Amino acid sequence: MTENVLEIKDLKVHFPIHIGTVKAIEGVSLDLGQGDVMGLVGESGCGKSTLGFSILRLLSTPGFFAGGSIKYHGRDILKMTESEVLDLRGKNIGMIFQDPLTSLNPLFKVGQQFVETIRTHESGLSKREATDRAAAMLECLGITTARLNEYPHQMSGGMRQRIMIGLALVLSPDVLIADEPTTSLDVIVGAQFLDLLKELQRQFNLSILLISHDLGVVAQLSDRITVMYGGRVAESGLVGQVFGNPLHPYTRGLLASIPNIRLDKPALETMPGNTPDLVNPPPGCVFHPRCPRVMDVCRRERPRTTGADEHLAACWLYS
Ligand code: SF4
Repeated sequence: MTENVLEIKDLKVHFPIHIGTVKAIEGVSLDLGQGDVMGLVGESGCGKSTLGFSILRLLSTPGFFAGGSIKYHGRDILKMTESEVLDLRGKNIGMIFQDPLTSLNPLFKVGQQFVETIRTHESGLSKREATDRAAAMLECLGITTARLNEYPHQMSGGMRQRIMIGLALVLSPDVLIADEPTTSLDVIVGAQFLDLLKELQRQFNLSILLISHDLGVVAQLSDRITVMYGGRVAESGLVGQVFGNPLHPYTRGLLASIPNIRLDKPALETMPGNTPDLVNPPPGCVFHPRCPRVMDVCRRERPRTTGADEHLAACWLYS
């Protein structure tokens, strides 16, 4: 059993707006083990990116933590001081985003951005030493060090994404949060990037939270999967369990809607209905208005999370 680097318990994140309160995350629990890759999947608006930002306490206004805890090696991030959290970001937990062009500063050369990132956390390091460390990181990523003298706009999308991961890892964090890291890349560059991520994960024994709407991307890299719906965890388990024997009707719907060129299907399956209103979520099981197997109890009571051998589902079919 590996040690957990992250333990999220009963997390609630709310956003008060003029028509009520958006319950973006409503009681999510998950653990990330040392050296594990956890895929976090679900439709847009299910709360997966909010969860990623919550770990670094980067909620946009007016979001707030309405309950729960996020522990990094046993220390609750939600109880840390502002300066402790600033120190944690980058040094202990790195993050890469969907669009590297908007995440990198267009006004500074890549080398300057590396040096600033390094010296913000390690002020005793000289500019020369920080540059040397940046160059070593680039070599590790298979990028020539001459690129340190370039601006982000002089690079391709794939190269910028690799620079982003270099910036995220240059301080040697043990956790990486990757939020839709291949969405802005074409299929081939995206596949190369996933190979690189896999290699870096092995090399640095990184724990990765891989957030994606793309089940194919998640399947390639993850050891475990958590499926989110309506700000809650619908199902979780090892990749083989969730893909091989999906329990939750929502997970089954997601898997059935993936195109498969080997199957002779006339049309893709779709899930009826829309994602839930998180200001006034449906009572009981939040998925019940769209569920093909809905029962009376589903409309009244929130399902318990049950299962065996680490394969869990929040569904009355298994309670
Ligand atoms: Fe469907 Fe009921 Fe299970 Fe919800 S609890 S997924 S409505 S069967």
